[in-house]
Formats: sequence, C-alpha cells, structure tokens
Amino acid sequence: MFLTKLTIMLWKGRRESSNVDDRRGMSGGGLAVGGGIIGVIALLINFFLGGGDASQLPQQLPGGGSPEMNTEQQAAEEELAGFVKVVFADTEDVWNTLLGQNEYQDPRLVLYRGGTESGCGYASKASGPFYCPADQQVFVDLSFYQELKNRFNVSGEFAMAYVIAHEVGHHIQYLMGTTEKMAKARQQVSEKEYNQLSVKLELQADFLAGVWAHHNQKMKSVIQPQDIEEALNAANAIGDDNLQKQSQGHVVPDAFTHGTSEQRMYWFKKGYQTGDPKQGDTFSDPDL
Ligand SMILES: [Zn+2]
Repeated sequence: MFLTKLTIMLWKGRRESSNVDDRRGMSGGGLAVGGGIIGVIALLINFFLGGGDASQLPQQLPGGGSPEMNTEQQAAEEELAGFVKVVFADTEDVWNTLLGQNEYQDPRLVLYRGGTESGCGYASKASGPFYCPADQQVFVDLSFYQELKNRFNVSGEFAMAYVIAHEVGHHIQYLMGTTEKMAKARQQVSEKEYNQLSVKLELQADFLAGVWAHHNQKMKSVIQPQDIEEALNAANAIGDDNLQKQSQGHVVPDAFTHGTSEQRMYWFKKGYQTGDPKQGDTFSDPDL
C-alpha cells in the first residue's frame, strides 16, 4: 500500500509534532486483527456462546500495524506517519511565528485507520482528511496518500503536505472567527449562497497553505521546486470540477464547494508567492 519512497522534501531527522493522537492501532475499522472482520465475528460468537475466554479476544497489534500490510508496507506507513508529523510541526513553527503565541493555539493531529470518532461525527476512510472545529483537530487516515496516487494520479509527499497545511488553514479560520461566521450564515442564506461562501472558505484555506509553504521555505529551506509542483498538481486534481467528473455515483464527502482546479491552484500560488496572510481575503474578492 505505502510502497512509495519519500525522497524529495528534506524532512528526515526533523522535529515531529507532539500534538498528535495516533489512533492507528485502535481505529473503529476493527480490522487490526488476524482474519479480518470475519475472524472477529467468529471469535465473538465463540466467546458469547461460552466457548472461549476473554484472552482470545482480538488484541491490538503493536505499533499500529495491521496484518493486511507486510513489514515493508508497515515500514513505509511509519515513514509516512513520521513525515506527516514533521509537516504538522512545521505548521506549528510557521503559524506561531506569524500570528504570535498568544493568537495561535496549536491544533491536534489525529491519525487513524479505517474509522474513528470526532467532535464532528464519525470519521471514516471515505471522509478524507478534514478539520473538525468542535475539537480543533485535524483527522487523517494515511491511506489518503495512496488514494491521491491511485485515484487522482497525484504523487509525491508534498501533495500530502499541502493537504495537511490546507486543514491547518481551516484551524486558522476557526481561530479568526471565520468558521463561526460561516455557521451563522448557514442559517441565514440560501443553499446556493452558502455554497459560494464555502468555496471562498476553501480557497482561503488553500491560500493559507501557500502562505505556510512560503514561510516554511524561508525558515527552513526544505522545499524544492518539485514540491510546489506536487502541491499544485494536488490542488488541480482535487478541484470540484475534477472531483465531480471522478466521483460519478459515489459520494466524495468534503469534495464539493472547494472551487475549481484553476481557482485552487491560483490561491495556493498566491499564498506561496506573497507569503502575506493579509492578501487572502477571498470573501471580498470580486472575481469569486
Ligand atoms: Zn477544506
């Protein structure tokens, strides 16, 4: 599953965020067990019929590994987890510097596999990465990395960094009160108008991801030209227009009302080039 080697962004040996809740070994998917779900059911039936004892109940596997992955795949997933934690730490460094430690409170990162509870409801693999304002946490099922690759044809770990930075962008919107304004608007405006606002919110999160990349580069010189290319490819691939073409029949949650591919690339680039958070007022942009 995670066989792609991470090579481009210079991230190895750098600080990993400590604001991480790694639930991969205990995700609600319940598949971290030999024999998969059928095995679990068989064991449970066995248990409830009195034919077994609690010691036979499935145990969590150490290190969040799952028998569906071989050791090489597990190592690759650990590497990806490490990368994501470094990126998360990078967002902490940049936003604490830009906004000041009084203004900025670090969000938390929840890594899960299959499914987990969030303050915004049950998260499944199909939810894709998202930010939940109710608990100020970013939820990521690492298999999304592979999905980017297989489904959207986007490769490279910086595509994943962009996705993380976009979610942290939503956290900044929460801190700035924008999220609350949106919640109020939802009750006051038509669905069509709300969707337009939603596009602006999403494009602003893309812009903030670009601002992060700009300052991360300034502070740490870890981003290479291909990385930005990858982020733009990701922004391109997961624009609404593309997703709608892709999804046909099955729902892509959190997919719509993000803006077109071109808009997403435009705003990420604008953030990356200017590095100026003040230039990201998508809400007053006459073209949107
Ligand atoms: Zn978003």
